[in-house]
Amino acid sequence: MRVVTLASSSSGNATLVCAGETAVLVDAGLSARILTARLRQAGMETEKLAGIVLTHEHTDHSCGAAALARQCNVPLYGDRRTLDAVTRSSIARMPDGGTEDARPLVLEPRPAGTSWQIGALRVTSFPVPHDAVAPCGYLLGTDAWQACIVTDCGEITETIFTHLRQAQVIILEANHDREQLLRGPYSPSLKKRILSPTGHLANDQTAEALWNLLDDAPRWVWLAHLSRTNNTPSLARDAVVTRLGARRLRSARLDVLPPGFGLAWDSAELLAGGRR
Ligand SMILES: [Zn+2]
Ligand SMILES: [Zn+2]
Repeated sequence: MRVVTLASSSSGNATLVCAGETAVLVDAGLSARILTARLRQAGMETEKLAGIVLTHEHTDHSCGAAALARQCNVPLYGDRRTLDAVTRSSIARMPDGGTEDARPLVLEPRPAGTSWQIGALRVTSFPVPHDAVAPCGYLLGTDAWQACIVTDCGEITETIFTHLRQAQVIILEANHDREQLLRGPYSPSLKKRILSPTGHLANDQTAEALWNLLDDAPRWVWLAHLSRTNNTPSLARDAVVTRLGARRLRSARLDVLPPGFGLAWDSAELLAGGRR
């Protein structure tokens, strides 16, 4: 199994997850042109993509989804309400309001809280608290390995925790430093929205979740979806390292995802060279 992040920030998110011959993209928050280039950078031709799985409709997760799905002739998966919202906005973005001849979009609605198979990958969705129509996190994997993606989430629920715990690769939001957000340039209403239980995870919430989560099982944690305005990689990392201490991190590897093309995890490397 292989996981590669193609983008992770408040201005664009996409993660490639592959098992055997199956490759899916989780979120498509960049233009189809840039996503195609980043997929190539990850060694993946777009013709090999089996589907695009969406967490929610916000543009930093979905703006390239409809165009890339049409271009690659692959389905969009996600909660029906999310797919409806994404297709409405993608039709609105077409120059003639949607009557232009275009390949039909194939939609595969899957309610939050269900599991299904895409080729070799088992995909499980679960609800997360965020101000979107039907926001989800995802656990994706095989019998041997699992990756869990949780971004855009106001607080960690028991359901989220249960899914995070099953994964060897954890992609978890560390959106903002509370102090930096409060001191920063955002309007009072936007600050309130971000800090609310349906907003985004602050570094200290992420650190607390990891403190509860990490045990002796080897895991690789990627801190994700950092705000460019209200966070820095060192603030996010320091919050986690300070809360967890060396003992809690003894079996885990911790990294902060860059906003652009990011990190890659490959189970074949683990099996060949021991745990990294
Ligand atoms: Zn987002
Ligand atoms: Zn969002």
